[in-house]
Amino acid sequence: MPPNGVALIEFTDKGLYCSQGDFYIDPWKAVDKAVITHAHSDHAKAGSRYYLCHHFTKPLLQLRLGDNQYESIGWKETVIMNGVNISLYPAGHIIGSAQVRVEYKGEVWVVSGDYKTADDGISTAFEPVACNVFITESTFGLPIYKWKKQAVIFNEMESWINDNHNAGRTSVLIAYSLGKAQRILQPLAQTGLPIFAHGAIFNVHQTLVNNGWDLPVINRVTPETPKNDMVRNIIIAPSGAESSPWMKRFAPYAVGICSGWMQVRGNVRRKNADAGFVLSDHADWEGLLSAVKETGATKVYSTHGFQSAFARYLTEQGIEAEEVKTYYGNDEELSTEESAKPLL
Ligand SMILES: [Zn+2]
Ligand SMILES: [Zn+2]
Repeated sequence: MPPNGVALIEFTDKGLYCSQGDFYIDPWKAVDKAVITHAHSDHAKAGSRYYLCHHFTKPLLQLRLGDNQYESIGWKETVIMNGVNISLYPAGHIIGSAQVRVEYKGEVWVVSGDYKTADDGISTAFEPVACNVFITESTFGLPIYKWKKQAVIFNEMESWINDNHNAGRTSVLIAYSLGKAQRILQPLAQTGLPIFAHGAIFNVHQTLVNNGWDLPVINRVTPETPKNDMVRNIIIAPSGAESSPWMKRFAPYAVGICSGWMQVRGNVRRKNADAGFVLSDHADWEGLLSAVKETGATKVYSTHGFQSAFARYLTEQGIEAEEVKTYYGNDEELSTEESAKPLL
């Protein structure tokens, strides 16, 4: 703790605040200076004067928040604000997602943002960062969450799509417009079938392609798209679409939801889906634990998800931990996941 007794990062009503450097990290209200971990809507709010983020995140913020003052940096580059060193390390969650390392007079805090420890082949792979204090997410902070290897899920997905195709059905995959929708393109392209997408997904896709990302070709679904072009092929739609009239044009179709919450028995049925693919952009229980241990932090704060259970477990393991209530975890990414959450 600095000599004046104020923590390097404080939890305020606007978000995580570093008073020494006078900046916020992922604030949920408009502020002067915001450092942004990634472009999901619960972490990147509109209205701030200045945004600092990774190069990959900048075009996504421009797409979602419009014209603002943006500054972007590469991995491990340092920006100094009033003596505080700020740098970004890969979080492995989605394209451009970063952990924020904050250092002042030898004391280091790391804010994880959302992260996953397994390499998905599209987001820059997660790297643990040594620190004194680690502020971690804990979306899946219960031992029941254990992810299979991505290749296994991708195989399941491909055979499901092929079965649908052979049975004359269109495959509709529900995936978040930023993150999952790009991540599943590889197995989808593998099937050789044309891929169509909802406008929300297409816009993100185009932004990435315009910024040099080499992604498989997808087509935008418009009212003019001939039904025959789409039948027996693949549609990617954002969460929420599965229960909207927008889906009618694809009949006969089968719905597959790509989400970590699909691991919980009953959620596939509850969401009226035909298949659930347990694919998450968040760390599972083991991933969270290994991330925490690898930081070597002597103090951990846990945010969104099962933060109290996770903090309790860490405390039992001899790591000083506390839960912090934030406004994260209620974005479009998690709206479906939240409603599919088990009641505990
Ligand atoms: Zn996120
Ligand atoms: Zn989040």
